[in-house]
Amino acid sequence: MIEKREFYIDGAWVAPEQSNDCDVIDPATEEVCAVISLGTKADVDKAVAAARAAFPGWAATPLEVRIALLEKLDAVMKRRMNELGEAISLEMGAPIDFAINDQAATGPWHMAGFLQAAKNFEWEEPFAEGQVIVREPIGVCGLITPWNWPVNQITLKVIPALLTGCTCVLKPSEIAPLSAILFAEFVDEAGFPKGVFNLVNGDGAGVGEAMSHHPGIDMMSFTGSTRAGALVSKGAADTVKRVTLELGGKSPNIIFADADLSKVVRRGVNHCMENTGQSCNAPTRMLVERTVYDDVVGLAKDAAEAVKVGDPRESGRHIGPLVSQAQFNKVQGLIETAIAEGARLVTGGMGRPDGMNRGYFVRPTVFADVNNQMTIAREEVFGPVLVMIPFEDEDEAVEIANDTPYGLAAYLSTGDAEKG
Ligand code: NAD
Repeated sequence: MIEKREFYIDGAWVAPEQSNDCDVIDPATEEVCAVISLGTKADVDKAVAAARAAFPGWAATPLEVRIALLEKLDAVMKRRMNELGEAISLEMGAPIDFAINDQAATGPWHMAGFLQAAKNFEWEEPFAEGQVIVREPIGVCGLITPWNWPVNQITLKVIPALLTGCTCVLKPSEIAPLSAILFAEFVDEAGFPKGVFNLVNGDGAGVGEAMSHHPGIDMMSFTGSTRAGALVSKGAADTVKRVTLELGGKSPNIIFADADLSKVVRRGVNHCMENTGQSCNAPTRMLVERTVYDDVVGLAKDAAEAVKVGDPRESGRHIGPLVSQAQFNKVQGLIETAIAEGARLVTGGMGRPDGMNRGYFVRPTVFADVNNQMTIAREEVFGPVLVMIPFEDEDEAVEIANDTPYGLAAYLSTGDAEKG
């Protein structure tokens, strides 16, 4: 059993102010695989104090020195990539190859992009005569991340914060905290000055809310559900923090009759089901030109049935379980509602795949004859569930695509670039 009860604050691993154990569940077995602590406002206060104290020194540290430390962090991350992937696989059920090569690999991938950007960035820019725009670090950043792409989200927030001279407090998802704890170990090994990076584990109501409201935090960067994002904005309002939010999606994938259908349908289905459907940018609404609709439904059925569900510890391109019992229940409920509202079940459906009797595994599912007002077309499922909606012409395709409370991603396939 992994026991990781401490937080990383002011360059050291410290016990929580109050002990409050939280089990981490392996979604493939439904068994406890690790224990962490849920922090409180007192832990947040300590972490923010450390980040505040470190800020002036870090902000004044020359860019080359900051870049050199991030390059060290990059080297540690690359060396310990398998460990990172194993942690992700355990905490959120991503199959091991995907966890290492797609999930953990986002760390060095984002690092490369940000390092390049930092080297080419115009930190100072001439403005009018005798004037110059100077870009300065904003201060202490509060970073809150979700469980579905844990390292992706952490590196997307921590790296630019540190590169620009900000200090930070990270609160990863309490459901998938193990990769974040490893990341903190990497930061420690790279040798950053104390207080520059701090990690406090906890839930949204405890640590998350304490961060949003904290007067010592200058900016909040949040990725997660719309519900929690709205709460972060409200919490940050009293202290007039800058807030950035990346929230959910119900992204359309428009397929015109002139596209290379077998290729784009397979790609669309795989992208929807990848990571067991737990990606904010998943193309979950396939909008199909009416003249080829029946053929495309058949292609999507074949593609979904080719998606294998399996043990996350095994090598291969299968998909794993959903992250939690709560997600499993939510996905089952949405499938049930889709059937009740009259969507046509093409493949998949309720329950676990055949032969599986434990773990939060679900069936890759496709619904046809969906209209855009059905619950299954409006709500983010966050599971391997595709809905297929026919359209008559371009105008109708665009209208359906935009008719969503979300606005994250959108995809389109046509053989005619002009039309695209
Ligand atoms: P979630 O909102 O439940 O949790 C995300 C994080 O917010 C967690 O760390 C959680 O502890 C914290 N949190 C919860 N309530 C909070 C509160 N009141 N104040 C502050 N923090 C709080 O979401 P989740 O279930 O972990 O992740 C899935 C959601 O994230 C999906 O909706 C998905 O689309 C979205 N997501 C979006 C992106 C993107 O880039 N747009 C990327 C990944 C995930």
